[in-house]
Amino acid sequence: MSEFKKPSSEQEFEQNFQQLKPLMNETEAYYESSRCLFCYDAPCVKACPTEIDIPLFIRQINSGDIDGSASTIYASNYFGNTCGKVCPTEVLCEGACVFTEQNVKPIEIGRLQNHATKQAIEKNKKLVNLGDSNGRKVAIIGAGPSGISCACELRTLGYEVDVFEAKEKPSGLSVHGVAPYKITNEEALIEMDYLQSQFGYTVKYNSSVQSKEDIQKLEANYDAVFLGIGLGDTSTVGIPGEELENCLGATEWIEELKMDHLDANIGRKVVVLGGGNTAMDAASESARMGAESVTLAYRRSADQMGAYAFEWDLAKGVGVQGEFNATPIEILGNDKVEGVRFKRTGSQNGKLIEVEGSEFEIPCDMVIKATGQRKQTDFLTLIDGIQTDVKGRIEIDVYGRSGDTKFFAGGDAVNGGAEVVNAAAEGKMAAVGIHEYLIS
Ligand code: SF4
Repeated sequence: MSEFKKPSSEQEFEQNFQQLKPLMNETEAYYESSRCLFCYDAPCVKACPTEIDIPLFIRQINSGDIDGSASTIYASNYFGNTCGKVCPTEVLCEGACVFTEQNVKPIEIGRLQNHATKQAIEKNKKLVNLGDSNGRKVAIIGAGPSGISCACELRTLGYEVDVFEAKEKPSGLSVHGVAPYKITNEEALIEMDYLQSQFGYTVKYNSSVQSKEDIQKLEANYDAVFLGIGLGDTSTVGIPGEELENCLGATEWIEELKMDHLDANIGRKVVVLGGGNTAMDAASESARMGAESVTLAYRRSADQMGAYAFEWDLAKGVGVQGEFNATPIEILGNDKVEGVRFKRTGSQNGKLIEVEGSEFEIPCDMVIKATGQRKQTDFLTLIDGIQTDVKGRIEIDVYGRSGDTKFFAGGDAVNGGAEVVNAAAEGKMAAVGIHEYLIS
């Protein structure tokens, strides 16, 4: 049973989706930064995909140099504020902090990161002196973490950069897909405004690149094109009833929640299908939207779920129930969802098997499928010479370039779906690759 009432005002929505990592005040930041041992060869740095110099930025906070601290963070990660809030720090930097070996609470690196970056954003602190233009232009498709990180880095290298974004807002999943209790849209967008004002790239919103002609125009007008296109819609499960009203894809539903808040569709009894981090988000969010019951159904056992353990703990903490070794075989209902029929699963010689005669049903009025997202393979077939692997991920060389083309790529479309911090790191790396390739 969920402890949350359906929010009926924006204030109640904010209460239900209270920030997991609230901002620190000066005293908290001073105290927390004082605990850091400023380790040599610090394991927290090695665990960060963007290799932020964590001991240095924490020391700068401790000595009162907040601007310097923010500069240290942004020098490695253009999504410094967003990542402080949305990174799974429990398994990255904080999970690697030396204190964990002594059963002592690790340093709250994410919150300290926000302490510095938030102030830099509010003061519009100058991050870089952009040099003269080198006369070359790069187009970026997608204003998500990989695309924007690539844009920022290219601007420091003297390129003119135009970002083409299909939606009306930037930031990709940070705005459209990350749970509202991790970051608010307002906060994600403020960082995007800050980066654009600091680095001076252009973003063309509502500008979807979708035809061969669009692509040929980009090829003709730019020296290189970066694909930060992310992933597509939720994949179908391939069972009867998926077309019923209130059977939704997790990505689409979470986007609706992020954009419409109170007006987002929510059932009284919700079943979430899947065992990854998106399933955990969808389940927690359903509970916080006031669903009376939320059941997360996964076809294998709880310890085989792909989600981080802390995400499952978070979901259980808001009343989500687990139904394991249960594979969906039909979504039930006439026009609208009325339930899900499952079959029990087991393991035989290490393989997942369905147990005959073990069918059972869970009544519900909403199903959220968190069973993976499609790759953008249809779009990619429009680009001559682009290379993809058997899973539909873009294949790239050491420059981040795909095949014998002008196209470079990074983020989810290359890694198959990872964290914001991975996309930020890959976008920045691709910018360096584009530069090396164009000057070689
Ligand atoms: Fe500080 Fe922990 Fe990193 Fe050491 S491992 S530098 S104590 S945050």
